[in-house]
Amino acid sequence: MQRLDLRGRSLSLRELREGLPRAQFDVDAALYSVEPICAEVRAGGGDALRDLAERYDGVCPPRLRVPDETLQVALGALDPDVRAALEISIARARMVHRDQARRDTTTTVSDGGTVTERWIPVDRVGLYVPGGRAVYPSSVVMNVVPAQIAGVGSLAVASPPQKENTGALAGYPHPTVLAACALLGVDEVYAMGGAQAIAGFAYGFTDGADVCEPVSLVTGPGNIYVAAAKRLLKGRIGIDAEAGPTEIAVLADASADPELVAADLISQAEHDPLAASVLVTDSPELADAVSLAVERRAAATKHSERVCEALRGPQSAIVLVDDIEQGLAVVNAYAAEHLEVMTRDAASVAAQVRNAGAIFVGSFAPVSLGDYAAGSNHVLPTGGCACHSSGLSVQSFLRGVHVVDYTEAALAEVAPYVVTLAQAEDLPAHGEAVTARFESVGER
Ligand code: NAD
Repeated sequence: MQRLDLRGRSLSLRELREGLPRAQFDVDAALYSVEPICAEVRAGGGDALRDLAERYDGVCPPRLRVPDETLQVALGALDPDVRAALEISIARARMVHRDQARRDTTTTVSDGGTVTERWIPVDRVGLYVPGGRAVYPSSVVMNVVPAQIAGVGSLAVASPPQKENTGALAGYPHPTVLAACALLGVDEVYAMGGAQAIAGFAYGFTDGADVCEPVSLVTGPGNIYVAAAKRLLKGRIGIDAEAGPTEIAVLADASADPELVAADLISQAEHDPLAASVLVTDSPELADAVSLAVERRAAATKHSERVCEALRGPQSAIVLVDDIEQGLAVVNAYAAEHLEVMTRDAASVAAQVRNAGAIFVGSFAPVSLGDYAAGSNHVLPTGGCACHSSGLSVQSFLRGVHVVDYTEAALAEVAPYVVTLAQAEDLPAHGEAVTARFESVGER
């Protein structure tokens, strides 16, 4: 891993943001290939989606909508250990996400004047579960649980068809993804991946007797084509985020165990050759020990090739800082998707972090725990977006609507101020809409 030595340097936020390693993820460039895909889906519906599956996934699904009995076949064939693990993951995610449920609030602004904030779930959502390089049944849980708790009435899942599937599952998404959908009670699942899946959700389509109605919101992680389709179709649909390659930053001091730090940096690199693994430390000794441990472990791990590519890439680094205070400035500027704090008194250091998608405190809260079974959500902002955005949550599936309810007396009390402000904005008709309510029939 490359080293970046920031010791003795006082850098501005701008210099930090520009100088820190970051994956190259040119969504605009991918728009060129994604635009014709989305246009094809809009014009050709189900037939186009089949052609695109054949072209990009190497297999044509027998039906785009996975039949209910196929979901049940996948659930029946699910390894009992995997089922037990998924059930724990679902139960913990439900515990945490239930606490995010929003209650309507009514504020009495004056006698007879109230504003209620009503939280209304999005009517219909499309949830994307990636399935190109790896398969992510955990992403089914992370998408579906908050949507269900928010009270979304209609939800559909899409995941790429897998050419390796055989028998009853041939041409459909990965069996464990299908089984996770069945476990969660999701029965509308489509075999479609990449940009075409996002377009299928946005425009809706028919496929034989099946109708996929358009959705209002698409959430879920995916590769650069998924991100580009979200960018292109944003406005027609709402999106959660344009997720980029995954990231981990570890803020550690000399008290951290280099083997654990190395294991965590490698676990993130396992996702993608573009994944970013960044260690920020004030201890050159820890930096050296982590380098050695990373080299040894990366060579031995199953997906060594992509792990090594990610760790050697320009997006990964060991950053040396003077002290943990400077380390905090660095991690706050970087705004990692995942941040681990492995320092003395980790909880109080973590409390000073302002920008991160999720924060993992101390030696016993690795990112992998959050990926699967902490109860937290693993769909998180990447690429520095954690300085302005949150991860997926119940809130992502809700809209807050103000309901304004004033009596005549309450309107009369505030009317002069409305009229004054309307005049100040040179919008007299706004004021007239208020005064008209207090004119007698003869005055009109
Ligand atoms: P994916 O499902 O996002 O993409 C696969 C699809 O890409 C295919 O179905 C195909 O249609 C399309 N595609 C492939 N090559 C194409 C091309 N040349 N032109 C147009 N379309 C093409 O799966 P993936 O590729 O494995 O990517 C998943 C990403 O999601 C990874 O970067 C992973 O790190 C990330 N991820 C993030 C989270 C999170 O919560 N942040 C969770 C899981 C996965």
